[in-house]
Amino acid sequence: MSGTRVITKKSAADFDKMKIAGRCVAAMHSAVRDAAGPGVTTKELDDVARRVLEEHGCRSSFLGYGGPHSPFPGVICTSPNSVIVHGIPDTYVLKDGDIISVDAGAIYEGWHGDAAFTIAIGDVSDEVQNLLDVTERALWAGLEQAKAGKRLGDIGAAVEALAVPHGIGVVRDYVGHGIGRQMHEAPSVPNYGTPGKGLRIKTGMALAIEPMFNLGTDRSVVLDDQWTVVTADGAFSAHFEHTVLITDEGSVVSTLDEPRYV
Ligand code: MG
Repeated sequence: MSGTRVITKKSAADFDKMKIAGRCVAAMHSAVRDAAGPGVTTKELDDVARRVLEEHGCRSSFLGYGGPHSPFPGVICTSPNSVIVHGIPDTYVLKDGDIISVDAGAIYEGWHGDAAFTIAIGDVSDEVQNLLDVTERALWAGLEQAKAGKRLGDIGAAVEALAVPHGIGVVRDYVGHGIGRQMHEAPSVPNYGTPGKGLRIKTGMALAIEPMFNLGTDRSVVLDDQWTVVTADGAFSAHFEHTVLITDEGSVVSTLDEPRYV
């Protein structure tokens, strides 16, 4: 997925719309989280998310993404177990011991919000639960670096630092991104980097930070459907994401029930 290379400065009014989109994403997350469990298909989770979009007067950022040749068919991405990202909701039945990553995007009056989480279905091993915990902590470590005057390398380094002590593979083929009138805008926001290096973060930017961590190596493969990205070694993968707005008053995570300053 790629978008424009131009970084547009968002106004306070633009950010207000992105917060409404973000609240819709948060509502999609909680509804899908409540619905997920053994015996439920990923398509049923997509149906749940569709209803929330309608209730909030938002459209999906994902449905139809990719253009006429390979339009994404879901309103959410559902990525079980070894699927890293971009899994298509289908007849897959969740079972005890699975994990499922859910990525949701919503558009309100042309402005986007984008966020993802991974949950365990029933009982999972300590190793798998640790993967989920570490990936979520890495997201928040990255968000805390997303402040005016910092650089993109500060975000990437903070995210990567959480993975290293656990021998976790940090996916490099897919990265976070700017977000606004398009879901994917410049700049790219890698989950690795060097502190003090890279593009300087400024007010008016909006970033989607999204660590993708694997229990095995970082290597990935795209399946024949041209969407589903899986780990090359079949190991489980986790994905957590939030959208953060760099405002004059500070940096605020928009994809929550209530926006939260970091
Ligand atoms: Mg994203």
